[in-house]
Amino acid sequence: MNPYSTQDTIIALSTPYGMGAIAMIRMSGSESIALTNRFFESKFGKKDLTQMDSHTVHLGYIHDGNQPIDEVLVSIFKNPNSYTGEDLVEISCHGSTYIQHSIIQHFVANGVRPAEAGEFTMRAFLNGKMDLSQTEAVADLIHAQSEAAKNVALKQLKGGFSNELSEVKKQLIHFASLIELELDFAEEDVEFADRKQLENLVQKTIVHVEQLAQSFKWGNAIKNGINTTIVGRPNAGKSTLLNTLLNEERAIVTEIAGTTRDTLEETIHIKGFLFRFIDTAGLRETEDIVEKIGVAKALEKLHQSDLFIYLFDSNVTNLDVLSDDIQNLPTHIPHLIVGNKSDLISLEKKSEITLIDKEIIFISAQLKEDIEILKDALLEKLALHNIDTSATIITNARHYDALIQVKVSLVEVLSGLKEGMSGDLLSIDLRQALYHLGSITGEITSDDILGNVFANFCIGK
Ligand code: GDP
Repeated sequence: MNPYSTQDTIIALSTPYGMGAIAMIRMSGSESIALTNRFFESKFGKKDLTQMDSHTVHLGYIHDGNQPIDEVLVSIFKNPNSYTGEDLVEISCHGSTYIQHSIIQHFVANGVRPAEAGEFTMRAFLNGKMDLSQTEAVADLIHAQSEAAKNVALKQLKGGFSNELSEVKKQLIHFASLIELELDFAEEDVEFADRKQLENLVQKTIVHVEQLAQSFKWGNAIKNGINTTIVGRPNAGKSTLLNTLLNEERAIVTEIAGTTRDTLEETIHIKGFLFRFIDTAGLRETEDIVEKIGVAKALEKLHQSDLFIYLFDSNVTNLDVLSDDIQNLPTHIPHLIVGNKSDLISLEKKSEITLIDKEIIFISAQLKEDIEILKDALLEKLALHNIDTSATIITNARHYDALIQVKVSLVEVLSGLKEGMSGDLLSIDLRQALYHLGSITGEITSDDILGNVFANFCIGK
């Protein structure tokens, strides 16, 4: 956990570093409003910010005691109704780096401490404004790079995941307490907790927890993007296909400020999901290898992909060679077999090729034909097409690990119940399951967990 005191008033730039039209500086802590007031001069006569209502905005100047630094808008939030749960001030100034720096320096010179990464959000957690999984959703939302990632993070931020867990928890706590009550009446040999009911509940909970844990395999793809490779023999049309996919999305992607051309050329949004085309230069590399050592060897390089497209030229490919190549594809990695240049072949040739593998998709990368079919097939291959991104999906490895631990403990409870294990032993496993559930939302935390969670944040959030 942060080694610094939570009593300090902290300050940080919350907008990205660098020049912009406007920058926003955030200050949180007991001194934030009074200090801002000391260095604030309203444009509309005398104004005491400490007497203003929460959630109000004030136009004026921030000065350094002698002269104004900038004309600013000051927003005031009073505890407990702020992001951090403390008194909080947001100063929107002109976006010059000089002005940003001067304002921050001025407050630091007057006793405010520069905030650590994620410290505002950590205070929100410590002050009960959100639970730990919600704070993690804040970081995910900031880093969301696709509609799907945004939807999942937003749901988590709104507490959807926590609510789902708290239902499970409530029932387990109920049974744990009944069993523990039995222990108080040990001599009388009573059973308050109906074993059959408990068994049903544990079984149901295991299924539920498994479903959540399984969603991690999509969650990871949603959050970090899907690593995709296009492989195939030279001149199959790999570069053309990549360009076609890129061009279709470019109009949308270029709207996003700060997206560099480099990343733009490697990541593609397909139906709300982010696909990362692994190292486009790698395409050429694969090609060389194909020439040198054959497709099978080249395909060994695919192990980092979540998905690959095997592209062939349906016009010139010798069917025996094609059949061989397809047989050598690594089947443990999801893949699509795609016949390119469909504009050049007859229907007869198409059906001949289809005999090799009936799932072959035909496209014309150059004429942009049937690209939609290919996109749908990509999603379908990863079972992403019917994912409801408004459902609870685990995107966080920490949550996944905790859920697996919950399951392990519940399986112990279940076998204990079947073997007629005594209440005190059952209760230990039940408590263990509850402990791991609680670690997700942060009811049970250690400094290590907090340190890890907030280290992933930006400063100013
Ligand atoms: P790569 O070596 O696999 O990257 O192949 P390229 O993308 O460089 O394409 C090789 C050649 O095939 C180029 O001349 C492309 O214009 C052509 N090509 C690519 N896709 C198609 C297509 O769908 N139809 C036709 N007729 N030609 C294509």
